[in-house]
Amino acid sequence: MGKQAIVIGASLAGLCAARVLSDTYDRVTIYERDELPDGPANRTAVPQGRHVHLLMARGAAEFEDLFPGLLDDMVAAGVPMLENRPDCIHFGAAGHVLGTKTTLKREFTAYVPSRPHLEWQIRKRALAIPNVVLVKTSVAEPRYDPARERVTGVLLQAGDESSAVPADLVVDATGRGTRLPVWLEQWGFGRPTEDTVDVGIDYATHQVHIPEGVIKEKVVVAGASHDHPVGLGMLLYEDGNWSVTTFGTGKVPPPQNLAEIYELADTLLPPHISAALRSGEPIGEMAFHKYPTSRWRRYDKMDRFPAGIIPFGDAVVSFNPTYGQGMTMTSIQARNLRAVLEAGEQDLAARLFRATKKTTWPVWTMNAVGDLALHNATAEHVPWWYIRVGKLFDQFLGAAETEADLAEWFLRRFSLLDSLYMVPDARTLGRTIRHNMGALIAEKRRSLRSAPQRDRVSAP
Ligand SMILES: Cc1cc2nc3c(=O)[nH]c(=O)nc-3n(C[C@H](O)[C@H](O)[C@H](O)COP(=O)(O)OP(=O)(O)OC[C@H]3O[C@@H](n4cnc5c(N)ncnc54)[C@H](O)[C@@H]3O)c2cc1C
Repeated sequence: MGKQAIVIGASLAGLCAARVLSDTYDRVTIYERDELPDGPANRTAVPQGRHVHLLMARGAAEFEDLFPGLLDDMVAAGVPMLENRPDCIHFGAAGHVLGTKTTLKREFTAYVPSRPHLEWQIRKRALAIPNVVLVKTSVAEPRYDPARERVTGVLLQAGDESSAVPADLVVDATGRGTRLPVWLEQWGFGRPTEDTVDVGIDYATHQVHIPEGVIKEKVVVAGASHDHPVGLGMLLYEDGNWSVTTFGTGKVPPPQNLAEIYELADTLLPPHISAALRSGEPIGEMAFHKYPTSRWRRYDKMDRFPAGIIPFGDAVVSFNPTYGQGMTMTSIQARNLRAVLEAGEQDLAARLFRATKKTTWPVWTMNAVGDLALHNATAEHVPWWYIRVGKLFDQFLGAAETEADLAEWFLRRFSLLDSLYMVPDARTLGRTIRHNMGALIAEKRRSLRSAPQRDRVSAP
């Protein structure tokens, strides 16, 4: 029969895991409980797909590595491609609009597929792999052998032994709602501890058709800030329509109807973009989604873990979605899985947890700093340096409004390209300090010049 792997969940994480496992296992079976459409369409079990999804440039490259030809096919299907075109991106981060030049010194390409389109393209490719099969049914739970302290397969929908399917490895790619912590507790391993940040995010989205050519931008981001806790993202997708997502942070409600979206756009966006939005044709109904908490399940900290099972994708870590990193971080988990499998299957879970901790930590930590310092989030344990670093970063973003090199540095790091660490090097920091000192001195000079005039005017 050969080596068998089972993947629970055929969303982005499950499909990427299946792709990687197909190199090592003779047969990979994916079980999915949801109806999977034949084309790019929203799914009931993936409600977030109705809201704006940014694909980072790093994620595009990682997905292409897993599924060669994917990016060309997406572009052929109409997915916007921005080849070294920062002038097609309006990017406001925490209240600062980045001042990139029209082209970047170090070129990169961004792709703008909708979430359903990307999943469909990846699904087609994953299911075309000869040793990967998809079965439409729900998994009740993994099958656990206490004597060997290992998972030996799964029990399907019925949940009894008659539905047992054996496997050498089970991958839990069931998303944020994973039940693995409960099963681990039942099997005597205890639950993993969790790092959480209560971000209190509330999404509201409307689709709008704006005639081609009215605006040159294809990506419009106006992130929330401390003083303005509601943000907005607008992406032009492959169907020629704009997905317009608004979001409140720190439990602040987003717009509840289109008129309120227009009002928000007037306050956050340049007039030519908000005017284009108002002149567009609304399509369908508003969609809403709540995302209360970012969550990292710390499997890497568990002393004991059963053999034969690994969690994957959002089931391990679910990032604040307003930073647009979840799919890209899943693609990086797939890179980690590939690397640990290539080194053998001994101690697979522990080695994967270590690798994923390494790639998760920098992104998770910088998100938490931003959330707690700039977006009114709360958490149980906040290291003392988070708020200070957050304020320094706010100053960096202020300098990036007019310093093109700093703006480019931020855009590349935000796209998870050069490094997962959002830490400026000494040269970049030096530029920030010089810029901010210059701005401070200019401001002082301006107020000194205007002071005597005020005195003269007010003298009797
Ligand atoms: C509002 C919102 C906006 C987001 N925006 C972005 C963004 O801009 N950019 C970005 O990169 N990421 C974004 N993300 C994150 C992104 O959606 C996820 O990281 C990505 O979908 C990967 O998820 P996943 O495959 O791990 O889980 P999911 O997509 O949640 O899929 C889990 C799958 O498992 C199946 N399943 C569950 N239980 C069972 C079972 N027992 N048996 C069989 N099947 C089962 C489900 O039906 C589903 O298909 C956003 C998330 C949210 C919530």
